[in-house]
Amino acid sequence: MTEALTKKIFLSIITICSLSVVAAIIIVTAILYVASAELAASEVRTDAKLIASAVEQSGGSYLETDGIADDVRVTWIGSDGQVLFDSEEEAAELENHADRKEILEAMKTGEGSSSRYSTTIMHKTANHAVRLSDGSVIRVLGVHTSLTAQLLKVLTPMLLTLAVLVLFSALAASKVSRNIVKPINGIDLAHPSNIKGYEELAPLLDKLRSQNIKVTRQMDEIQSRRERFALMTESMTEGLIIADPKLNVLTCNSGARRLLGAGSFTEGQSIYALNNSDVFRRCLINALGGRRSECILRTGDGQREVIASPANSIDMVCGLVVFIMDVTEKQELETMRREFTSNVSHELKTPLTTIYGTADILANGMVKQEDVAQFGGNIRSEAERLINLINDIVALSKLDEDSAPRENESVELYALAEEVLDRLKLSADEKGVTASVSGERVSLMGSRTILGEVMYNLCDNAIKYNVSGGKLEVKISHIPQRAIITVSDTGMGIPKEHIGRIFERFYRVDKSRSRKIKGTGLGLSIVKHGVMYHNGTVRVDSEAGRGTVFAVELPIEKKQ
Ligand code: ADP
Repeated sequence: MTEALTKKIFLSIITICSLSVVAAIIIVTAILYVASAELAASEVRTDAKLIASAVEQSGGSYLETDGIADDVRVTWIGSDGQVLFDSEEEAAELENHADRKEILEAMKTGEGSSSRYSTTIMHKTANHAVRLSDGSVIRVLGVHTSLTAQLLKVLTPMLLTLAVLVLFSALAASKVSRNIVKPINGIDLAHPSNIKGYEELAPLLDKLRSQNIKVTRQMDEIQSRRERFALMTESMTEGLIIADPKLNVLTCNSGARRLLGAGSFTEGQSIYALNNSDVFRRCLINALGGRRSECILRTGDGQREVIASPANSIDMVCGLVVFIMDVTEKQELETMRREFTSNVSHELKTPLTTIYGTADILANGMVKQEDVAQFGGNIRSEAERLINLINDIVALSKLDEDSAPRENESVELYALAEEVLDRLKLSADEKGVTASVSGERVSLMGSRTILGEVMYNLCDNAIKYNVSGGKLEVKISHIPQRAIITVSDTGMGIPKEHIGRIFERFYRVDKSRSRKIKGTGLGLSIVKHGVMYHNGTVRVDSEAGRGTVFAVELPIEKKQ
């Protein structure tokens, strides 16, 4: 802007200077012209009077004298207007001069004058006529340059002068304009202060100062709002992205970057730099169409639910708000729930089908009398399996729903272990397994029912998966603030590759082998949830063919 201002000032000065010079030259020329015209007229008048008096005295022969008409033209005109003599042309060839203004005047008043352009446009003539006593007239015609000629004469020096002046004024104008603009250029727009000699700018600078204060205040406000917004969004575990309609990110919290698995990302980049999958793209494009859109994304370490909502302004989408949640656990639970339901149905169906089939054969009387007892035994054993299964499902669902009775009583683990082994005595004897409890009496705060179920399932497995003549040992001990229950057996053990999965619902190590050993695949799930209910941990150490040790560690003061 200041460039343009400098140029403007410069051009104005140059124009004014040039116009002034041209005007001055024209005025001076005109004055000189007027002066020279007056001088020429007076010279012609003097000459005419002198020549007239000489002709009066000496007669017309005087006109033949050399040198009288060197600078002027002398014409002698008779009283009838006929030219009697002319210093430049043949008198006979000249037309009658009676109608010439100066001649008419002279004939009337004794003297007359006129001035006119000669045939040559560049020249002007000054005429003066004097009447002689015989009525004839002497006219003297002097030539002087016209205004145009005068101007043309001074044109070259005028142009030279003009050029020199323009050059000087250009230099001066450039300096002057720079000097005028320099203080304006030097204004510190952030802290404008009045400039001496530029009082006209004072209101503008005052306005600028107050605007600056307003802008700074607003910027501070915006900054603090931004910081508050960033603080809030950064503390969110969910991801939040706000993008413009071209899908360039305006704001994006670290949750979004983390959940979408984006490495380096800066605001202003395309949203696709965060995730470029087809599912994500489709979800955003749908939202840009004006409708809320949802999708589930699979990123490296889990599953994300993405909700993209259009931000509408009047009739158009002016941006997108994208919300991202980690739904890995939710999705896993959903899968587990689905698997659990199908497993339960399957596990319930198998014994029921056997019961139905066996009962059907019995009802049709197709079984010999001596086989009825065996068929009845089959039905009882399948029904027992069903009961066990339902009991386990009920126990597990109670733990799952957290609807297990929230007893918080003092439980003495040694006595509880003895009680459990007592309940299992029959099956231990059947299998020829020697069961024993050792260690110390340790009490903790918790649920006697749930702890009983934990111990029962561990001891039941230690008997079921033991070898005939094997051992089962329950040891109760404690370390500061924690009770430890160790259940070890000398049974078949668990192959390494299965250890990570035995706590899953319905997981059985070897289905064909386990089929012979009754079980639901839910026992260790009950153990896991029972221990979790008490904020404890369970570890397993096993070797195929050598036996298994389960170690449960529980806090003595149960946290609610
Ligand atoms: P189940 O009703 O089949 O016993 P669990 O959930 O209690 O179900 O156990 C899951 C699987 O872990 C069992 O099928 C079995 O293969 C294995 N298992 C559990 N305890 C032992 C153990 N003490 N010795 C060997 N295998 C075991």
